[in-house]
Amino acid sequence: MAGTKEKLIHNLVSEPASSHSKVTIVGVGAVGMACAISVLQKEMADELALVDVIEDKLKGEMMDLQHGSLFLKTPKIVSGKDYSITANSKLVVITAGARQQEGESRLNLVQRNVNIFKFIIPNIVKYSPNAILLVVSNPVDILTYVAWKISGFPKNRVIGSGCNLDSARFRYLMSEKLGISPLSCHGWVIGEHGDSSVPVWSGVNVAGVSLKSLNPDMGAESDKENWKEVHKQVVDSAYEVIKLKGYTSWAIGLSVADLAETILKNLRRVHPISTMIKGMYGVNDEVFLSVPSVLSSQGITDVVIMLLKKDEEDRLKKSADTLWGIQKELQF
Ligand code: NAD
Repeated sequence: MAGTKEKLIHNLVSEPASSHSKVTIVGVGAVGMACAISVLQKEMADELALVDVIEDKLKGEMMDLQHGSLFLKTPKIVSGKDYSITANSKLVVITAGARQQEGESRLNLVQRNVNIFKFIIPNIVKYSPNAILLVVSNPVDILTYVAWKISGFPKNRVIGSGCNLDSARFRYLMSEKLGISPLSCHGWVIGEHGDSSVPVWSGVNVAGVSLKSLNPDMGAESDKENWKEVHKQVVDSAYEVIKLKGYTSWAIGLSVADLAETILKNLRRVHPISTMIKGMYGVNDEVFLSVPSVLSSQGITDVVIMLLKKDEEDRLKKSADTLWGIQKELQF
């Protein structure tokens, strides 16, 4: 006896279509859900999978998103503790883990989150051996290294969101100072995401006009306009937002969706994201730091070689040494 569905629809294919642009988000906390809604609103994934260890929260978040399906263009939203639901992902965003407490540095979080990664990464690899891993959990540069080591993936397919957010914050603050859209304010913050990030003052420009050529003291203590404060605010802003609202979420979610768009649409845009920089800028250890990287559906295919000043390169090298000092002690 045919039911309403069978009376309405004459089926032509028995196999369900496999997804082409599936995105998995591991961790449905504040950051994971900001990434989820930002990715959904960009209408570029045909399937979204959510994974977490807290089952009620996970199911609740999935249902809440599914109920918005009328307003989205991602026809399948799934969730589960079991990683089989993540199978065949093109992109896996990892936001799982403990978050910074008020005043806690990102580096302090490290071993707690390494232990979580020892469980997550092998499961992802098992079900999506060709995926690109995008690590967001902090300390992001170290955990990107950890994800790379555990996954056995080639380095182009393991990426840290790194200074993508720091550079976005920098460009926003620059835009406030100049009264020009952040899209037209160009500036790169590179190196470690967070406390030792390096602003590349020599590259700050609007319409190709170098601001440092207009103000040679830019970034220095002697600068009367105190541009150094812009970078200080970039570093302090996460701590300030955490102090005010308990966590940061919207800006990181939007910046992750921007990276997802470049990957899923194979755009080859250049982003300040964390990649393995051994052999560059005098770094001899396997550390991940943010440099301008060409991003595509293959992950990071190329790195733009910045013409850094000696002190900028020294600062990058110092960050690399600090990270390596921590990485070599990790148990995984
Ligand atoms: P949160 O506590 O709100 O969420 C973390 C989620 O991870 C929780 O839902 C928790 O259940 C889940 N989780 C824990 N162990 C898990 C496991 N083994 N498998 C799956 N899920 C697991 O934290 P949050 O505010 O969403 O922050 C998440 C991470 O993102 C933190 O490490 C934070 O520091 C980092 N972060 C990074 C950036 C960046 O720019 N890279 C910006 C903001 C936050």
